[in-house]
Amino acid sequence: MDIDELKARVSSQIDARRHQLNELSLRIHSNPELGFQENKAVAWLTQYLEENGFSIERGICELPTAFRGSYRKGKPAIAILAEYDALPKLGHACGHNLIAASAVGAGVASKLAIDRFGGSILVIGTPAEEVEGGKAIMAQRGGFDNLDIAMMVHPGVLDTAATQALACQALEAEFFGKAAHSAARPEAGINALEAMLQSFIAINSLRQHIRDKARIHGIITDGGEAANIVPAHSAGVFLVRAKNNIYLDELKQKVINCFIGAATASGARLEYRWGDVSYAPMRSNLTLARLFRRNMQSLGRKVRLTDPSSGFGSTDMGNVSQLVPSIHPEVAIAPKEVSTHSPQFASAAASEAGSQGLFDAAKALAMTVVDLVASPEIVTKIKEEFRQGK
Ligand SMILES: [Zn+2]
Ligand SMILES: [Zn+2]
Repeated sequence: MDIDELKARVSSQIDARRHQLNELSLRIHSNPELGFQENKAVAWLTQYLEENGFSIERGICELPTAFRGSYRKGKPAIAILAEYDALPKLGHACGHNLIAASAVGAGVASKLAIDRFGGSILVIGTPAEEVEGGKAIMAQRGGFDNLDIAMMVHPGVLDTAATQALACQALEAEFFGKAAHSAARPEAGINALEAMLQSFIAINSLRQHIRDKARIHGIITDGGEAANIVPAHSAGVFLVRAKNNIYLDELKQKVINCFIGAATASGARLEYRWGDVSYAPMRSNLTLARLFRRNMQSLGRKVRLTDPSSGFGSTDMGNVSQLVPSIHPEVAIAPKEVSTHSPQFASAAASEAGSQGLFDAAKALAMTVVDLVASPEIVTKIKEEFRQGK
């Protein structure tokens, strides 16, 4: 059987499972679970894999909603990563239900390629992508050791094979002032809200002079109790992002200086805490991305390697990409003007276009597995690119 014939067979495996995969995706969509609470999704996904010949390890990396499904016949070890967490209030507005269903669909269809050429296919369930960075924690705990390749497909509004993602770290900042009557004794108060506002102003000034693609943004989570009380406490949550970890560290110090300046000016005391987990920038392996693109194009999608017009956030897949040659392509499921993390995108994740994205992503992933197990020289080239980029 030649490679094209095998690709056609893995594709038809996905077609044969369209109904099951779509049902799985919609079930996860209508039962949204926040990060580290994805118990139902994990139960359904692992059950599906188990019924289809995968051996399952649950609770890997000491995370109850992380899992590994394996179908092993030697090397190379290729992982397809699943995400399944939802967003507060918005539900599956990032379409992780489609990521989950495409990952298990691709994993099961890839068994044909493994049976023919050898190799191992692993479907790794990675919880809490949105805020807690599940993959970053798993990476620290060896969850991606002994892998040769890692892939996943994220729904979006463009078809791109090598998406960008920024390094990112969260910051919590608090100011402690002194309450007083705002009219009768304003001179007795220390205004913690003003300190927070000054911090925003300083950050806005800083923003004019930061490097391209760096981002600083935040919200105020406590701005005081009542208009006639000088706010004794204020709190905010911020995200600082940059193209690489070196500039991220530089920028973090500049951001903290904004808060220190505001503390000095207002007399309020500053306390801050950086998030435990930082998201690493995405290193897309271009050799792997080109393979994926060719397979996605064979399904009738126009896929760009990278799209300069595409927006970019951060993903914990970035942390995986620092350890293992990886791709994080995007499959379009909504018009370009729709933003992820919006109610419109949540609807798209349960739409017909969403299902089509799921099937195409699963097929392109499984066809890429065919390329990888059939051609050891391609895997060598992918690893060589990874080493050189280090
Ligand atoms: Zn997402
Ligand atoms: Zn998201």
